[in-house]
Amino acid sequence: MTARRTVALVVAAGSGSRAGGGLPKQYRTIGGKAVLAHAVEHLRCAGVEHVRVVIGAGQETLFQTAAADLALPPPVPGGTERQHSVRAGLEAIAAGGGADRVLIHDAARPFLPRAVAARLLAALDEHQAAVPVLGVVDTLARAEAALGDAIERQSLVRVQTPQAFRFAAILAAHRAWPGGIATDDAQIARAAGIEVATVPGDAALDKLTFEEDFARAEERLARRLVTRTGIGFDVHAFAVGEALWLGGLRIPHGRGLSGHSDADVVLHALTDAILGAIGAGDIGDHFPPSDPRWRGAASSTFVEHARRLVEARGGRIDHVDVTLICEAPRLAPHRQPMRERVAALLRLSFEAVSIKATTTERLGFTGRGEGIAAQAIATVRILEDL
Ligand code: MG
Repeated sequence: MTARRTVALVVAAGSGSRAGGGLPKQYRTIGGKAVLAHAVEHLRCAGVEHVRVVIGAGQETLFQTAAADLALPPPVPGGTERQHSVRAGLEAIAAGGGADRVLIHDAARPFLPRAVAARLLAALDEHQAAVPVLGVVDTLARAEAALGDAIERQSLVRVQTPQAFRFAAILAAHRAWPGGIATDDAQIARAAGIEVATVPGDAALDKLTFEEDFARAEERLARRLVTRTGIGFDVHAFAVGEALWLGGLRIPHGRGLSGHSDADVVLHALTDAILGAIGAGDIGDHFPPSDPRWRGAASSTFVEHARRLVEARGGRIDHVDVTLICEAPRLAPHRQPMRERVAALLRLSFEAVSIKATTTERLGFTGRGEGIAAQAIATVRILEDL
């Protein structure tokens, strides 16, 4: 028996934003990453490999930016109403070979817990459709000019997404839908005579709608950040005829350092420290000395690349500290400008960057003035594995 093919259909076609922020909410970032990207990653983490995204007219560029690191198939153009977008997505999945099961999800619900996905898929063993629901805890009442009658809430639930369906059943239901606005796919399924099972939902699935929802989502992500530190070390030899680059600054000196790039030991040690903190290998893995592209390259490229890798993990650099080891040049006059330059490259405050210098009392290769060494340490916070 072959494994059943489960596809997630993420609806990201909305254009409005009650939350403000100038962008449709699914393309706004939380924790440095688009809401849509969080939604896709949580689906994958829950075991759904195949994800199709439906976008609105004119959202191609927003999608490309939001999904740059997600390796998704091309987005499906949506329609004017949510149900039209879902229908377009289902038809695209059908045209692409179909599926056995589909999870239809809103991009504005970025934090799908694995347990909810497991409950939904298990329910599909017995039922053609299943949705996550939560009880209503607040008192509900009608309101006109003044507060009206309370509404009995015991029998009410809040319906969330993803909503799970056997693919053929929901595709047929959408094709048979007579028109009119449907607020979700369970409604369309029920109209086609499909019984919709319920499983317990989760507050983590609440839709991001208002500005305060985004603040809460940022806090939720911040609680999941873990602190990591990384260490870096680099040495380059002095050579005549080279410029001396340290910490992204050209330092006036009779001799410079030799190397494949600009041989900036400060930025090389820093790059390795940051890469080390996120377990992303070392500078040679990302910028092989054998690659002619990096001949004479400004090392700011390397350290900015490392910063972007941290950001791609939903993380941030908190602090870096560097020790330069050499007898000459005298570094005291350059430390403040170097801190400012490194802070700019890493988008840190001046206070979050430390640059120190020491000698080795004329001992060893640095003591003999043959080269410069640098040590660096970086403290970062990244999102723990989803
Ligand atoms: Mg180096």
